[in-house]
Amino acid sequence: MRQLRIRIVGGSLAGLFAGIMLQQAGHDVCIYERSKNGLAGRGAGLVGQSDLLRILRLIGCEHVAHVGVVAKERIYLNQDGSIVQTVSMPQTQISWDVLFETVASRIASGSYLLGRDVVDVADGDRGAELVFGDGTREMADLVIGADGLGSVVREVVNPDHFQNGYSGYVAWRGLIPETSLPSAAALLLDRFAFYVRPGVHVLGYLVPSSKGEMNAGSRRYNWVWYRKAPQSDLADTFTDRDNRSHAFSLPRGGLSDDRLTALRADAREMLPPQFALAVEAESSPSIQGIFDYEASRMIGRSIALVGDAAFVARPHTAMGVSKAAGDVMALVNFLSREDDMFVALRSYEADRIVTGREVVAYGRQLGASAL
Ligand SMILES: Cc1cc2nc3c(=O)[nH]c(=O)nc-3n(C[C@H](O)[C@H](O)[C@H](O)COP(=O)(O)OP(=O)(O)OC[C@H]3O[C@@H](n4cnc5c(N)ncnc54)[C@H](O)[C@@H]3O)c2cc1C
Repeated sequence: MRQLRIRIVGGSLAGLFAGIMLQQAGHDVCIYERSKNGLAGRGAGLVGQSDLLRILRLIGCEHVAHVGVVAKERIYLNQDGSIVQTVSMPQTQISWDVLFETVASRIASGSYLLGRDVVDVADGDRGAELVFGDGTREMADLVIGADGLGSVVREVVNPDHFQNGYSGYVAWRGLIPETSLPSAAALLLDRFAFYVRPGVHVLGYLVPSSKGEMNAGSRRYNWVWYRKAPQSDLADTFTDRDNRSHAFSLPRGGLSDDRLTALRADAREMLPPQFALAVEAESSPSIQGIFDYEASRMIGRSIALVGDAAFVARPHTAMGVSKAAGDVMALVNFLSREDDMFVALRSYEADRIVTGREVVAYGRQLGASAL
């Protein structure tokens, strides 16, 4: 394949993986990220699945997979806090922040631009044109949509079907220094803990600090409480304390004092005491809407979708980053094998659309048994 001018919309992990691998393959690449301040320091932990480990090797970042905290077993609790069941199932949570920063350090300098909001894309046979929020425009041979859940690039490729489907529940999330977890909740540490009964699903585990420290005392405790919320309540659920509305989530710091008080009261009433203490210790919980999305098309004439722009799977799968890595490796592989870019794009779509559908279906299945 000749050298292409490739522009990537979205600079989270899917965009970075694509940018780095395509630069390695000799293409002229630039990534445009909407966030003005960058994404560092905003993640928690993730499970290192095989496609993630493969792509980390390919971009020279394999060492980052070792920055993780091992949960030695899974425990399932009763509401009184006693253990119902223990399952030996060691699992490592690697640090999203360290992963992101290490991967970001591999992109060529000057080719990752913050504060660049793409508002539209015009697709064509001989390239695609990006339109930015400030009115500027830019042509590229290939545009990659790595712009996640609210993708604008997806909308160009799937004009009749670009909305995410709401699952009927949200994930309340807390991320606290482990030292702020009271000793009465110490049972939660060093293991994956769950409390599951009809209509209630909460889990928690340790993750490294945002700097990647893994020693006891430096780590963070991450809890996730899945709660049903009717679609008609979503606008209120994602409206922050300053009355600003958010499309798919309520970021940290956005919850009003009244809602925080109500959350803590619900936790005391509904959850095992250890989880209620973990909820109490978090002063700024966030809320993530849980959605599904399956693209009918992953490509246009001069556009490819990767990661969550193409398929949104529920977090129970823990496969978001790995799926993005698999998409990128396939896309780069087909582009390197074919002289005709459109032939490469078609092969890419044929290869990955099945996987995307399977992962979304798996997420729905896990979700159905989760709540
Ligand atoms: C800040 C952050 C923290 C995360 N933390 C975790 C974690 O702890 N554990 C975990 O398992 N997963 C986490 N994820 C999700 C995980 O990274 C994704 O599943 C994975 O990266 C694949 O998603 P993606 O890159 O396709 O989309 P996303 O991660 O959603 O990224 C999309 C990116 O595109 C940008 N963008 C969107 N629209 C535009 C536009 N119009 N113009 C320009 N840029 C745009 C967004 O700002 C965002 O950075 C996190 C994601 C983010 C963004």
